Amino acid sequence: MAKNPLHCSFCGRSRDEVKILIAGQEGHICENCVEHAREIIDQELAVKDDRTTTSFKLTVKKPIEIKKFLDEYAIGQDEAKKVLAVAVYNHYKRLQQKTSDLNTGNEVEIEKSNIVMVGETGTGKTLLAKSIARMLNVPFAIVDATVFTEAGYVGEDVESILTRLLQVCNYDVAAAERGIVYIDEIDKIARKGDNPSITRDVSGEGVQQGMLKLLEGTDVLVPPQGGRKHPEQKLIKINTQNILFICGGAFDGIDKIIARRVQTNTIGFNVDKELQDNMKKNLLSYVNATDLKSFGLIPELLGRLPVVTHLEPLDATTLRAILTEPKNALIKQYTKLFELEGIELIIEDDVLDFMVEKAMEYKLGARGLRSICEGILTDAMYELPSSKETQFTLDLEYAKRNFDKSKLSLLKVA
Ligand code: ADP
Repeated sequence: MAKNPLHCSFCGRSRDEVKILIAGQEGHICENCVEHAREIIDQELAVKDDRTTTSFKLTVKKPIEIKKFLDEYAIGQDEAKKVLAVAVYNHYKRLQQKTSDLNTGNEVEIEKSNIVMVGETGTGKTLLAKSIARMLNVPFAIVDATVFTEAGYVGEDVESILTRLLQVCNYDVAAAERGIVYIDEIDKIARKGDNPSITRDVSGEGVQQGMLKLLEGTDVLVPPQGGRKHPEQKLIKINTQNILFICGGAFDGIDKIIARRVQTNTIGFNVDKELQDNMKKNLLSYVNATDLKSFGLIPELLGRLPVVTHLEPLDATTLRAILTEPKNALIKQYTKLFELEGIELIIEDDVLDFMVEKAMEYKLGARGLRSICEGILTDAMYELPSSKETQFTLDLEYAKRNFDKSKLSLLKVA
């Protein structure tokens, strides 16, 4: 029991010496001691987490189950889902094998299965990577390859890719070392010309070179706050051997490279649009590392990205399904938002068709569906919470009127 109620029972400081004194049943605690206690708890928990292989508990499913899980969140893209499911499954099988190998002395080494996904923007590359991480319950970070430059130039060092991963798992190194990193816009760091020696290619080949060591699996010193490495900044060592890297990019124009390779000419004046689109769609399914090399990724990098897959462009049927089918489909989200307000939202079928039509017409893809819904429903979401309505029916006429009123028509791609 504290001798004097107006003293901190832990450090003994008097009421005047501290800013805050919190009363307990039989004593008091000051803000300094709360702070210290917090640090002790954090340290203890971190040690415990290390022992129980971190707070991120790995849940590994079989490839068919992985694909089923992905089906709940993403529509179509069966090929990419299958390839991802197998690659991820093998990657984690490899992780499990490693520990048992250490014990038995078995040396068979399964190679890491980093992945490249090729597909137009908005076709679900990030969504698939994110869903995989959610399913496996491992830390997941998204980084954009365009912000990185070769060490020594303005921009971020490639090591800060791992900073993001560390940040999402609250600097739990053991968890980060089993995480997944999605590197977006990998195509933007392609080598610009065929001859790299004419000018310094600061943001292209240099960055690819910098990425090599991250992807292959070594100890990397990571600046905890990201950005550039400062001499005074304490660096954190991370081993990337078990980090799965998934890269994605639109690789604009790669269809022509594939066409050249498979000896199919897609350029023709009399080829009708539908046929051209179909060919383009099929061409992408032939993509392989050779095409990515022709596009400007260096062979060493491709060697560390052994799995190549593609995502198909989204057609109207897929867009329509994206609106309503995934677990957190847009329409389900809006229905929920209205429901929380005590209002039943009824959306007529032709409104869904209209949304898809506009997304196609304006070349906004799946990402655009959200802006379209938002544009159409903003007025209703603004007015209805203050009304006594218990039901709102969104019909085509209302949708058209509000779409025209929103600034979305300005987004039209020529
Ligand atoms: P990418 O990374 O290929 O540019 P994203 O994965 O970020 O595209 O997709 C953008 C948005 O579009 C996602 O938030 C998602 O809601 C939606 N989307 C795209 N493709 C699909 C799909 N195949 N199934 C369901 N939703 C999709």
